[in-house]
Amino acid sequence: MEFEQGKELRELSTFGIGGPARYFIIVHSIEEASSILRYAHVQSLPVLIIGKGSNSLFDDRGFDGLVILNKINFCTYLPDQVHVGSGFSFSHLGVQSARKGFSGLEFASGIPASVGGAIYMNAGASGGETATCLQSVTFITELGEVVEISKEELTFGYRTSSFQAMQGMIAAARFQLTPSEMARERQLQIIEYRTRTQPYGEMSCGCVFRNPPGFSAGALIDQAGLKGYAIGDAQISTVHANFIINRGKATSVDVLSLVTHIQERVREKTGIELEVEIRHISRLV
Ligand SMILES: Cc1cc2nc3c(=O)[nH]c(=O)nc-3n(C[C@H](O)[C@H](O)[C@H](O)COP(=O)(O)OP(=O)(O)OC[C@H]3O[C@@H](n4cnc5c(N)ncnc54)[C@H](O)[C@@H]3O)c2cc1C
Repeated sequence: MEFEQGKELRELSTFGIGGPARYFIIVHSIEEASSILRYAHVQSLPVLIIGKGSNSLFDDRGFDGLVILNKINFCTYLPDQVHVGSGFSFSHLGVQSARKGFSGLEFASGIPASVGGAIYMNAGASGGETATCLQSVTFITELGEVVEISKEELTFGYRTSSFQAMQGMIAAARFQLTPSEMARERQLQIIEYRTRTQPYGEMSCGCVFRNPPGFSAGALIDQAGLKGYAIGDAQISTVHANFIINRGKATSVDVLSLVTHIQERVREKTGIELEVEIRHISRLV
């Protein structure tokens, strides 16, 4: 087991932010992931699993533990379901399943997640969310045990899942798919809307805040006059106010300061408390 030392986490994040990991390794199979988690547990090493890094704000000082980059990438289609490794691209799964004439995951196209990250966050868009057609998850506990968990044993909410309170790694999943002649057309509409309304070519982590019940976080930030406002190189997108973009050299401190500023301004103006959706991964667990 050879760990790389000092891997820059900014290279693994769509935000382009983050300092060095003490130890770093890539896993390609469930067996590899299981033995590494077991080893980390025995060594009392703090572990951080990364998929596509599209919802993670890493600390400028890095992570003082073992970062595991997930590349468990298999994908097998069965008559009415797909069995997929958690490192597989969720966006690709959305496009591919729709192309094959299956409905259920069209909304995933354009979400730059891994399957594991999408389950962990219960990612969603255009009225769909990951949990809806999920059937079961193969999970590796922190002790390295591989267990099958059915959806009925799990709880999902708006960008939340049981996994956020569990130690271990989502290794694979099964999704129920339904044959549909409309799937590909719907998926193309979803990607067209997404590229028209979101700052796609920019470094970001998607929506920073959850939508408060009955409100759009982006609209509240816009109405507070904050579109385009910047701290350092972290700027509120002029395209979609719920996105913070990294103009080049933003630090995690810039982003966190901007997050606090937005929360204060929106609270002053509306009395509404914006809740952060992106995961801030601090240096020490
Ligand atoms: C341009 C853009 C658009 C986006 N649009 C959307 C959208 O429409 N809808 C939406 O919901 N989100 C959206 N996002 C946010 C992001 O893509 C999702 O939150 C996604 O689910 C994160 O997946 P990931 O693999 O990148 O997770 P990462 O950022 O790698 O990890 C996120 C969290 O999940 C944990 N994790 C990841 N993989 C595993 C695993 N296998 N086992 C256990 N824990 C794991 C990590 O430890 C971390 O805490 C967008 C982001 C960007 C940059």
